[in-house]
Amino acid sequence: MKKRLFLLLSLGFSPAFVFAQLPLNVKIDQKAQSLEPKIVEWRRDFHQNPELGNREFKTAEKIAKHLKSLGIEVQTGVGHTGVVGLLKGGKPGPVVALRADMDGLPVTERGDLPFKSTVTTDYNGQKVGVMHACGHDTHMSILMGVAEVLASMKSDIKGTVKFIFQPAEEGAPEGEEGGAKLMIKEGVLENPKVDVIFGLHINSQTEVGKIAYKPGATMAAVDFFSIDVKGVQTHGAYPWSGVDPIVTSSQIVMGLQTIVSRNLDITKAPAVVTIGAINGGIRQNIIPEQVKMIGTIRTFDEEMHTKVHKRVTDIATNIAESAGAKAEVNITTLYPVTFNDVPLTEEMIGTLQNVAGKDNVKLIPAVTGAEDFSYYQQKVPGFFFFLGGMPKGKDPLKAAAHHTPDFFIDDSGIVLGVRSLSRLALDYMEKKSKK
Ligand SMILES: [Zn+2]
Ligand SMILES: [Zn+2]
Repeated sequence: MKKRLFLLLSLGFSPAFVFAQLPLNVKIDQKAQSLEPKIVEWRRDFHQNPELGNREFKTAEKIAKHLKSLGIEVQTGVGHTGVVGLLKGGKPGPVVALRADMDGLPVTERGDLPFKSTVTTDYNGQKVGVMHACGHDTHMSILMGVAEVLASMKSDIKGTVKFIFQPAEEGAPEGEEGGAKLMIKEGVLENPKVDVIFGLHINSQTEVGKIAYKPGATMAAVDFFSIDVKGVQTHGAYPWSGVDPIVTSSQIVMGLQTIVSRNLDITKAPAVVTIGAINGGIRQNIIPEQVKMIGTIRTFDEEMHTKVHKRVTDIATNIAESAGAKAEVNITTLYPVTFNDVPLTEEMIGTLQNVAGKDNVKLIPAVTGAEDFSYYQQKVPGFFFFLGGMPKGKDPLKAAAHHTPDFFIDDSGIVLGVRSLSRLALDYMEKKSKK
């Protein structure tokens, strides 16, 4: 191949003409590599100027401006601040959606990066820092890079690429709708109808250059639940004259531990039931009237999901009843399971192996974190994978986790993300056009 190019150049053909003769995957790799400084600059700018969910106004402006400069059709204000770009290729074919999320988190950044965020905000009445502590800054810059790569080879593209820049992945502010769910409600998967969707998440504990994935249930479904236990208030010295909601709640917390250990078939999939807060009482010698507990449930299987809901409710209400108290249980499903379509994953994994090198693509166990990418996957087949962002040679156990003040991403991992998404889109179109 190199010989042929050299020959073309020596025959006096222009570099642009020679570039046009390259196979698409080589073109993608070359273009992505040449864009690296620009993409890193975008990423650092996003990092320094993070915005919270449904408030990604400046972020959205920068994205829309870039997409427009590439001649991509742009729609703004989708699901509050979402931006959707449409790149119609020169040849007919399927519609492939690529998704990046845009929001930062109420976390105060530590460390001394030159592009560290010093942005602060009022969050639920508290003054806190705002930080891209989940790496969504890298996702946006990667997808902006992909847009530039694919726009440069528009005439070769066999189908349409829809770029979805989505707000509020971490959840919308209280009382607001947002995220993938709202974008879908506002029609992001229609006009033109999306056939398949790809997305990635950077990972602070996976080495740069590596990709991790799992077919099927990959990230957990997440539920929020609250249990209000009502007793009868009394003097702390005369507990027999009341009903103690603190003792009752303690029994409930212990009872809930038996759901995973005694009620679920854990050979099928893992599950988690966690109480994250218990609030009740005000003084050492008053047995209060009420205790409020909140917690989270993580499951990977629909049947287990339903079973956990039933067991949480039964255990809480029956233990309360046995004590003469009352428990009110409320469970809300926040995100469904992030489920990688199995045939699609099998079909596309070769692309990632070609891009990253076979040894760098790892099969991993399920992750108990959650993603609202799952909502797209409920509507169309989708594939979501993890991209390394940890400096090479670092101990993953010593690398700061996502959502923490020391969270750090080595941006030398970004180009692999650009190459991966670009090649997934084009390889998918290529496969479909041959069928
Ligand atoms: Zn996150
Ligand atoms: Zn995230």
